[in-house]
Amino acid sequence: MILGIDFDNTIACYDGLFHALASERGLIPDELPTDKTAVRDYLRRAGKEDDWTELQGLGYGPEITRASPFPGVVETLRYATEAGTEIHIVSHKTRTPYRGEPHDLHAAARRFLGHHGISPALIPADRVHLQPEKEMKLQRIGELGCDIFIDDLPEFLAEPAFPHSVTRWLFDPAGRYPEEKRFARFISWEQIERTFRDTVSA
Ligand SMILES: [Mg+2]
Repeated sequence: MILGIDFDNTIACYDGLFHALASERGLIPDELPTDKTAVRDYLRRAGKEDDWTELQGLGYGPEITRASPFPGVVETLRYATEAGTEIHIVSHKTRTPYRGEPHDLHAAARRFLGHHGISPALIPADRVHLQPEKEMKLQRIGELGCDIFIDDLPEFLAEPAFPHSVTRWLFDPAGRYPEEKRFARFISWEQIERTFRDTVSA
């Protein structure tokens, strides 16, 4: 079994981090929901697009270790590893942000994985694939021969170039896509782990 997993918003949860970064800088009211999208929408409505750009550079860069793995993700990876699964992280991530300070986003992602005991502890460093372009991410998923790929974006899973042999699982922790019928949809990593256990023991 070869399992591929997206990184941003599938393994790494940024909701608390972006709320904290914005709140510490006095950019949002404290009562704003602890949700990355809510922070982004608030700053855009307030005409603070530049602040949002700066926060993203920090959140995906030097401050990334303050983001958290989603609950249950580390346990699922541990189970899968012990079950003999070959796990790869395949992420679409530019080396530096599109705008703002040139933080090294690849080094930051690897620091997050080390800090939270994911890689190299559970996933060797050479199985962490940070691809600067979306097309390279699709290609890598195919080259690796993933049996299952997990991602938080239905539009990515629905890409015409997505390798057809791969079973696609949608991670939807905020319940944004209740109508999605094309892919199995999961609202938690606990749910993913249960289905994964059934899959490998079938
Ligand atoms: Mg993602």
